[in-house]
This record gives sequence, C-alpha cells and structure tokens, in this order.
Amino acid sequence: MGKNNRGNLIILSGPSGAGKGTIHNELLNNDSNLAFSVSMTTRKKRNGEKEGVDYFFVTEEEFKEEIKKNSFLEYACVHSNYYGTLKRNVEKDLEKGHDVILEIDIQGALKIKELAPDAIFIFIMPPSMRELRDRLVKRGTESIEKIVERFKNAYKEINEISKYNYVVINDEVEKAVKKVQAILLAERCRVDRIEEFDVNNQEELIHELLVDLKETK
Ligand code: 5GP
Repeated sequence: MGKNNRGNLIILSGPSGAGKGTIHNELLNNDSNLAFSVSMTTRKKRNGEKEGVDYFFVTEEEFKEEIKKNSFLEYACVHSNYYGTLKRNVEKDLEKGHDVILEIDIQGALKIKELAPDAIFIFIMPPSMRELRDRLVKRGTESIEKIVERFKNAYKEINEISKYNYVVINDEVEKAVKKVQAILLAERCRVDRIEEFDVNNQEELIHELLVDLKETK
C-alpha cells in the first residue's frame, strides 16, 4: 500500500516469451494484496485464453471507440495490434489499497512513467536471446512471421532497459518470482511510500507524548 492508503502501480515489461505471464500468475496466487490490470486488445484470442481474464478482446472499431471515450490510462500499437490499460479497472483497485500489476510494453511503460513516476518498473529478461527464440517457437502460438516480428521487438525493448528500476532474469521461474517478491517487499517498506513516517502528520501526537513524559518525571 502506498501513500493515502492507495496501492502502488507495478509495471512488468519484457520481451514476448520472457515469461512475464507465468511470473505475474505466481505473484497473484501468493499475494492477496495484488491485483492484475486486464488490458484490452485487438489481438486474436489464443487457445486457452479467457475473455476478461487474459484480456478483453475487441475489434479495432471497438478499441478506437474506447480511445475516443478516453478510457485508457495508456495504449499502444504492439506487434501490429492495439493494447490498452483501462483506467476504470486500475483506479478501482488502487483505491481499495491493492498494488496493481500492469503487464505492458516499453511504450506503455514510458507513458506511465510520465503519469506516475513513483510506479515500480521491473523488466523481465530471458536468460539469452537463443533461449527466447526457442521459447517463442516452442510455445507455438504465433506464425513464423509473427515470431520474427516479436523477436526483433525483443531486441529493441532490451535496449530500453535503463528506463526501468529493476531487471530480473527469468532462468528459473521460481527464482524469478522470489526476486520480484523481494522487490515488492522492499518497495512497500520505503519511507517515502509509508504515510505513518510522515513526521509532519504526527507533530500533535509527538507533542502530547512529550507532555506525558514530562509529567511522569
Ligand atoms: P501478447 O500478445 O504476447 O499477449 O502481448 C504482446 C505485448 O503487448 C507484450 O509485450 C505485452 O506486455 C504488451 N501489452 C499487453 N497489454 C498491454 C497494454 O495494455 N498496454 C501496452 N502498452 N502493452 C501491452
């Protein structure tokens, strides 16, 4: 939980095939304070993906309608499809005090950095480019052309790593999840995120305690 009891925004980025999805699912299963922002996309649904769980799947026209309605905190065109973070969902969870994970690309991350510079920016890296290529091929969810496009994008994204606060190499999921959990734990302990440590808010109480102390002398 951040200042004013609002949650923090957690940005998870990284190349397609780096394992962001597996990591965020593990994080959610183990921390009830975490919420996931389900994005809207014009990408076709993959086998096994669920409407409203993985994404809200819409047509390009529907997506453009939402842009007109100013529904997005950020949106971008990634690998020839639109993806966007819905303001209404994120705001609801932040207000409840939940920390919200946005799994978005670098363009989205940079927009969020402007809107919410105190968000936590984490980049998930594959152990190597060879491993990344093998994972994309093995996953079998995209055509070779799409894999090539994603692989080229991966290279571009990795070059932007310095815009993030943390990098986690996903060589073993369990270890990578532990590292992200450690980051979140440390971030929640930061003095500038915790309201109780705002001494200015406590001046009255400190004064009363001092008076009490003097009286017990
Ligand atoms: P995929 O098609 O593999 O689910 O996602 C492709 C890319 O789009 C990933 O890098 C993912 O992080 C990014 N992405 C997913 N949702 C959003 C979103 O709402 N906004 C932005 N900017 N990128 C997103």
